Amino acid sequence: MIGAGTGDEPMDRFLVVACVRCGRTKGVESDQKTFKCPTCGHNNAIAQLKVYGQTDDPAHLPALIATVQTTRDGGEEEYYASVEEVRQKQEAKLASSDDLDLREVRTVVNKKERLEQGVQLLGADGNTFSEEELVELMLKLDLKDYAQEVDRWIGYLMVKDIIYEPKAGLYGLV
Ligand SMILES: [Zn+2]
Repeated sequence: MIGAGTGDEPMDRFLVVACVRCGRTKGVESDQKTFKCPTCGHNNAIAQLKVYGQTDDPAHLPALIATVQTTRDGGEEEYYASVEEVRQKQEAKLASSDDLDLREVRTVVNKKERLEQGVQLLGADGNTFSEEELVELMLKLDLKDYAQEVDRWIGYLMVKDIIYEPKAGLYGLV
């Protein structure tokens, strides 16, 4: 056996993984928990990443990364399927941490009604909220198209006397 040493310590292993956000291929050590993507800065949890290749010899790593990159370029669909899987898992986690009320509102079919009910939750107990929080709510309620026109919908909610602006940039229930 090569590099036998004491024989019972595991050899360093290098894994080739890819950033879930931007897809950059990267070599990491197997005992690393996370890696910060040098391209987009995303902190990836290595345990959740697909391992595209591995080697015990660091000298082999650059060639392996290049091979994985090429293979992945050819097999993008499969690659993006795995990215999509991770994204869905994260979303499911987010959804399960939502409170029960918000999950109930998510099931409202009429989109305007869904927004209005969501805003009632956001502004409950006299809470004020920012435009950013409203966008976050819209995304949680699957109202991505509303989030893209948040100004318009703030206008709508104000015209309908559902919210008002007690302080600049802060909204509350009427
Ligand atoms: Zn990245």
